[in-house]
Amino acid sequence: MSRPDFDKAAFRNSVIYNVKNMFRRTIDEATPQQVFQAVAYAVKDVIIDEWIATHKEYEKRDVKAVYYLSMEFLMGRALGNNIINICARKEIAEVLEELGFDLNAIEDQEPDAALGNGGLGRLAACFLDSLATLGYPAYGCGIRYRYGMFKQKIENGYQVEVPDNWLENGNPFEIRRPEYAVEVKFGGYVRIENRDGMDRFVQEGYQSVRAVPYDLPVIGYGNNMVNTLRIWDAEPINTFNLDSFDRGDYQKAVEQENLAKTIVEVLYPNDNHYAGKELRLKQQYFFISASVQRALIKYKELHGTIRGFQDKVIFQLNDTHPTVAIPELMRILLDEEGMTWDEAWDITARTCAYTNHTIMSEALEKWPIDLFSRLLPRIYQIVEEINRRFVNEIQARYPGDQEKIRKMAVVYDGQVRMAYMAIVAGFSVNGVARLHTEILKHQELKDFYEMMPEKFNNKTNGITQRRFLLHGNPLEADWVTSKIGDQWITDLPHIAELLPCAEDKACQREFMELKYKNKVRLAAYIKEHNGIDVDPRSIFDVQVKRLHEYKRQLMNILHVMYLYNQLKDHPDMDMVPRTFIFGAKAAAGYKRAKLTIKLINSVADVINNDKSIGGKLKVVFIEDYRVSNAEIIFAAADVSEQISTASKEASGTGNMKFMLNGALTLGTMDGANVEIVEEVGAENAFIFGMSSDEVIAHEKNRDYQPMDIFNNDQEIRRVLMQLVNGFYAPDDPERFRDIYDSLLNTKSSDRADTYFILKDFRSYAEAHKKIDQAYRDSSWWAKAAILNIAHSGKFTSDRTIEEYVRDIWHLKKITVEV
Ligand SMILES: *Cc1c(COP(=O)(O)O)cnc(C)c1O
Repeated sequence: MSRPDFDKAAFRNSVIYNVKNMFRRTIDEATPQQVFQAVAYAVKDVIIDEWIATHKEYEKRDVKAVYYLSMEFLMGRALGNNIINICARKEIAEVLEELGFDLNAIEDQEPDAALGNGGLGRLAACFLDSLATLGYPAYGCGIRYRYGMFKQKIENGYQVEVPDNWLENGNPFEIRRPEYAVEVKFGGYVRIENRDGMDRFVQEGYQSVRAVPYDLPVIGYGNNMVNTLRIWDAEPINTFNLDSFDRGDYQKAVEQENLAKTIVEVLYPNDNHYAGKELRLKQQYFFISASVQRALIKYKELHGTIRGFQDKVIFQLNDTHPTVAIPELMRILLDEEGMTWDEAWDITARTCAYTNHTIMSEALEKWPIDLFSRLLPRIYQIVEEINRRFVNEIQARYPGDQEKIRKMAVVYDGQVRMAYMAIVAGFSVNGVARLHTEILKHQELKDFYEMMPEKFNNKTNGITQRRFLLHGNPLEADWVTSKIGDQWITDLPHIAELLPCAEDKACQREFMELKYKNKVRLAAYIKEHNGIDVDPRSIFDVQVKRLHEYKRQLMNILHVMYLYNQLKDHPDMDMVPRTFIFGAKAAAGYKRAKLTIKLINSVADVINNDKSIGGKLKVVFIEDYRVSNAEIIFAAADVSEQISTASKEASGTGNMKFMLNGALTLGTMDGANVEIVEEVGAENAFIFGMSSDEVIAHEKNRDYQPMDIFNNDQEIRRVLMQLVNGFYAPDDPERFRDIYDSLLNTKSSDRADTYFILKDFRSYAEAHKKIDQAYRDSSWWAKAAILNIAHSGKFTSDRTIEEYVRDIWHLKKITVEV
C-alpha cells in the first residue's frame, strides 16, 4: 500500500531544513546520525496532525479505552516501523537516495528502545501496533528508564554488561508533557482524621516525586490512527510545592532529589525471576500511581464526575508487576473521592484485568509485609482490607477449611501475594496460550478456578506481521505479496492463500532462493560482528531468546558437543553442514546462565577452529540479541529451536516469528508450540520430548534419576565428562563444574537436572537426525517451510487483540479522518 497524499518534495525539504535547523549543517555535511534525527523529525511532522486528530476523535466519541499497564515495552527501533505504517517506505527510500543516503543505513543509526527484557515486553509492543492498526482506543503506560536493557558484550567468551544509554542523542519521536505531571508519594505514615463523622486517611511525613509523562506515537498501519505510549519520568518535586512544614528542610530536599533520580534509572534485567528489591516496588508504584491518577483526572475533566468510570476505562495488568493499580485505584476512590468501600470496589473490580505469564515459582511476586507497608503505608491498609474480606468469603464458602486460606489468602505468612490480589480483585484472569491456561485452571490456580471459574480465559499470544515480516524480511514479504496480494499485512489469516504455492516446484525454488539471500545477509552480519565465516548453504539452526535454564540452551549446546564427538570419531560422517546460532542475554546476577554463555562460546572456539571436520559444524553466539538484530535472524532461520521443558514456557512468541519467516520448529509440546503444530501439522515440524503431563507427574512423584541415564548412556556420559575434564576449558578444567553438578549432583539437597535435559536428550538428538535427513530433500523442505508461513495466520497479534476486545475489553473501533 502507498500513502495517497505523500509529498516527496515536501518531505525532502523537511529533511534538509531539519538538518540545518538542528545541526547548522547542510545535508551534504550531515553525519548519518544527524540524517537519522532529521528524517525522524520529518516523519513526526507527517503524523502529528493524525496524532492530534486521533485524540480529538477519542473525546468526540467519548470512547472506552484500554490502558495497557506494563513495566516493559520492548519497542526496538521506531523509524523503519513508522515509515512502513505510514505506507511511505518506497517514497522515503527514494528521497534519501536522491540525497545520497541509504534508508537501511540511516535506520541503523537508531538505538533500540530496549525498555524490556524479552517476550513479555515485546508482547506489549506488538499489542500496541495491533491496537492502533485495528483502530482501538488504547494507551500504553510504562516507565521511561534512563538505561534500558543492558548491552551485551562478549569478552573472552564471557558476557559483560554495558549500560544502554539509549537517550544519549535524544529521542526524536517523544514529546514531554509537563502539563500532565502528577505527584507520587512514598513512605511516611497514615493519620486518621474524623471529618463530619467520617474517617479520612491522610498520608503524612512522606517523600514524593513528580511524575512527568513522555508520549510516543504508536502509528496504525495505513489508517491515520496514532495512539500513544506514555512513559513516565521522575523529577524532583519543586521545593516550592513542599509542605510548609518541610520547606527549607535541606536533608529532605536532597533525599527527594535522589529518589527521583534512582527511581527510573534502570530496567531490572531479570526475565521470569522475582528479586524482591525495594527499588523495584518503587518503580511499580511510581508508574502505576501516575497512570491511574491521570486516567481519573482525564475522566473527570471530560465527565465532571467519577461516576461511570468503569464504562470507559480498562486497566489491563501485564503480569503482576502493575498489580498495585488495584489498591491505588481503591485509595483514590476512597480517600479522595469519598466513596464507600463497596462503591470503590465495584468500580475497581470492573476495570482491572490480569494477564498471567508464568507458573514458575521463582517468578511469583511476594512482597514482605514490612517492606511493603513501610513504602506504601496507606496502600498496605487497603490490601489488608481486601484480604480480610476475601478470607471471609473463603470461610463462607469452605467453612472451617484452613487449608483453603493458606492456599488462597492475599496476605499470608508475612507476604503480600500479588498474583492472588490480581485474581481476587480483577474481573478477568487470562493465560497466554491454551496449554498454559489449562495448567493455570487445573494445577497452579485450581483453587481460584474452583471459586471463580467465570474469570478465567485464554488469550494465545501473537506477534505483529508488520514488524516481523513486512519490515524484517522484505524479500519474503514482497514474494508473498507477489503471489497473493498484500491483504496479509492487515489480515494475516489471508496468508493461507499461499497454500497452493507449497506444492509448486517453481514456488519452492523461489522460496529457497529468498531464504538463501536472507542467510547471506545474516552471514555478512556474523562476519562483521563475530569475524566467523558461516556457509549460507548450511542449515541455519537458531535458538535466540533470553538465557534461562527452563529454555534449555544447555541441552542445545550439549547436543552440539555430542555431534562434534561423532564427527571426531567419524570424520567423513554423512551430515548436512549445520550452523548452530545462539543469541541470548543472561540476567546480570544469574551465574549459571552466564556460565552457559561461556560454555557455548568455548565450544564454538574449539569447533570453529577444527579444520578436521571439514566445516560441517559451526557454532555462533550473536552478541547483544535484541529486536533490531532479531528481525535479521528470524528471516535467515531454517530451524527454530523451541525446546523448553514442557509446561515451563507459558507461550513463547519467538516461535511464531520463526514460523512466519518460514523456519521449521524443532520443539517440545510446550506453550504455543502446541497450537503451532496444530495449525501446521506435526509432519511439518520436529516434535520431541516429554509432555507437560509427564513432566508434572515426575515433579509430583520426585522419581526422576538423571544418574541412571548418565550410567547407562555412554555418549551422554562422554559429553558430560567433557564438562569437567578440561576438554573445553584446558586452562581451568573445573570451570563448568557447576553445570555438571546441576545435571547430576546430588551433593545439595535440591534435585538434579530440574529441567529434564538428560531425560529428553535422546529424543532431541533423534529429532535433529530427522532434520538432517529432511533438509536433503529441498523440495520437501521448501514445501514444509511454505506451509508454516501459510498456516501462521492464527499467530498475528491482531487476532489476539480482537479476542481481548471481544471477551475482556469490549472496545469500539474508531476511524480517524484528516
Ligand atoms: C520475540 C522476542 C523475544 C521472546 O522470545 P521467546 O523465544 O518467545 O522467549 C525475546 N527477545 C526479543 C528481542 C524478541 O524479539
